[in-house]
Amino acid sequence: MTSTVPTVERMQLFLVESPIRMARAQGVGAVKGTVKRVLIRLTATGGLVGWGEAAAWEVFTDTAEGAFAALDVYLRPVILGQPINRVRDLLARMDRTVVGHTDAKAGAEMAFFDLLGRHSGLSVAELLGGRVRDTIPLSFSIADPDFAADLARMHAMVPAGNRLFKVKTGVKPHREDMAHLEAIRDAFGDTVDLRLDYNQALEPFGAMTVLRDVDRFRPTFIEQPVPRRHLDAMAGFAAALDTPILADESCFDATDLLEVVRRQAADAISVKLMKCGGMLRAQAMMAIADTAGLPGYGGTLWEGGIALAAGTQMIAATPGISLGCEFYMPHHVLTEDVLEERVTNRDGAVVVPDGPGLGIRVSEASVRAGARILAEAG
Ligand SMILES: [Mg+2]
Repeated sequence: MTSTVPTVERMQLFLVESPIRMARAQGVGAVKGTVKRVLIRLTATGGLVGWGEAAAWEVFTDTAEGAFAALDVYLRPVILGQPINRVRDLLARMDRTVVGHTDAKAGAEMAFFDLLGRHSGLSVAELLGGRVRDTIPLSFSIADPDFAADLARMHAMVPAGNRLFKVKTGVKPHREDMAHLEAIRDAFGDTVDLRLDYNQALEPFGAMTVLRDVDRFRPTFIEQPVPRRHLDAMAGFAAALDTPILADESCFDATDLLEVVRRQAADAISVKLMKCGGMLRAQAMMAIADTAGLPGYGGTLWEGGIALAAGTQMIAATPGISLGCEFYMPHHVLTEDVLEERVTNRDGAVVVPDGPGLGIRVSEASVRAGARILAEAG
């Protein structure tokens, strides 16, 4: 039986740069013009092809060039020859080979799951335990330096069924944040589910006053108000405010999560494949979070359609990630993507795609047509 399982014969890597249609001010690492990613194409014996994506962000996990080198130089010997049905063994071998580089490892893992799904006829969600949901509520981030442009987007998106909006606060002066939040509640009332994300912008000194101020706009959660190391301050906010505190930068992986739980530093967590190193690790984190009573939120860095398809499959099969996802890049930010067809968004939700593997169609031709290739190997 084992002898009939395909093994990986070839790995092609593409370092790509994609144009984006709007500037994004995030507090750290403002993004404008383009984003870079690494795309992974694996070919197994018999000609089966699987795709993965390592969406590194230099202020968060790694550089795209670093992810490319980790895959090309260090992980290539581990990936080539690996049976496609030994994914956990692959993760262990990758960890023994190179430290960190969670985005490169997440990209390799999703390419293996895509191969295994296509080989078996099952979706990645089925390989991860099966769907518990068919759609995932989609959150759009209000992060344009030009707030009026974002407000105009909301006026188009709310009638189209979008309800979840995450405002990137702490980038501009506090009084401007207050004015923007007031403008949003004035325009849309309680029809929108508002979340706030400080991306670590506040210092613990004085932060409580700021958070009590914005709290009057009834956010569903406040994400990462202070730098990641300030878990005691996070615990203070979580204890003092009725509004839940969500940990993003403070919670990359299961080790971080144990500390967050032990110190009661958050009420919820943002789960990102690029932070934790893939779908199996994301589900392992959620086992801890479920046990501690913390719901999950499907966060992103600057993933395109391949990595977001993996995130969609994972969340479809992970009950505890109940706060929606921010997989809005392909429909709202990227001017073009490498998929032959984008994953459907309907009524303010991402529709989990049917079909085997990641449930998307990508080809070398669609990659070459849909992105600027800065480097390639293999
Ligand atoms: Mg965040």
